[in-house]
Amino acid sequence: MTRHVLVTGASRGIGAAIAEHFIALDDTVVGLSRSGTAPDGCAMSLAVDVASSESVTAAVKATIAANGPVDVLVANAGITRDGLAMRMSDEQWRDVLSTNLDGAFFSARAVLSSMIRARSGRIIFMGSVSPFYGVPGQANYAAAKAGMVGLARSLAREVASRAITVNVIAPGFIDTEMTSELGSTSDEMTALIPMGHVGTTGDVAGLVGFLASDCAAYITGQVIAVDGGLAMGL
Ligand code: NDP
Repeated sequence: MTRHVLVTGASRGIGAAIAEHFIALDDTVVGLSRSGTAPDGCAMSLAVDVASSESVTAAVKATIAANGPVDVLVANAGITRDGLAMRMSDEQWRDVLSTNLDGAFFSARAVLSSMIRARSGRIIFMGSVSPFYGVPGQANYAAAKAGMVGLARSLAREVASRAITVNVIAPGFIDTEMTSELGSTSDEMTALIPMGHVGTTGDVAGLVGFLASDCAAYITGQVIAVDGGLAMGL
């Protein structure tokens, strides 16, 4: 059966790979991003700033009107604004919290009533190993991604009786535009990965696909790493 899958941050990187994964399964995929671009094959692509509650709510209303209840939400949109905490500006802190944590909450809240009515649904938040591993320069990012775990687990308990699962994926070091900015730090980080190489967007998309599948119907409130062993035991 075709599912209605909503992916935030679908314009590139991990989000684009996730959208492509579901497109290949003939699902109805709707991509959200600030630029409004999304991979070929998406049923809709909408320009949305996930940090704006109004913008997210309007986009979700539009896709529900066009495609019916959302079966799968992948709250993937995220940014980094790294810097050591003692020099981190208010703006760096707020931008990351707004996009990465407010955005995840606004996206989940917007799909909940349709999932509750349908008595089914999958919410997948794109977290990170950052809050578990501890990464200097990422106080804002790690705080947002740690907040996402609390959000997911509270929500998981609120909606479990309606057969809606809520989980967090914690990628390690994945080859995208976000990590291409790291320069030589990239080699130092790769050396820490037990599997000895960075991950691909497809590695993350595969886990998203599993969590959205019937095989994962009894998995909720979990944080699952896809990191080549980087933060094992998180
Ligand atoms: P990219 O920078 O490659 O892509 C980020 C995506 O998010 C883009 O589609 C961007 O689209 C979108 N986006 C950013 N801000 C907003 C916003 N305010 N509203 C709507 N869309 C937005 O990042 P990755 O693919 O690497 O990362 C995707 C997710 O995975 C993020 O949440 C990131 O934190 C997480 N992650 C990534 C890791 C990695 O190693 N790459 C490791 C751990 C976690 P546009 O610019 O068009 O808005």
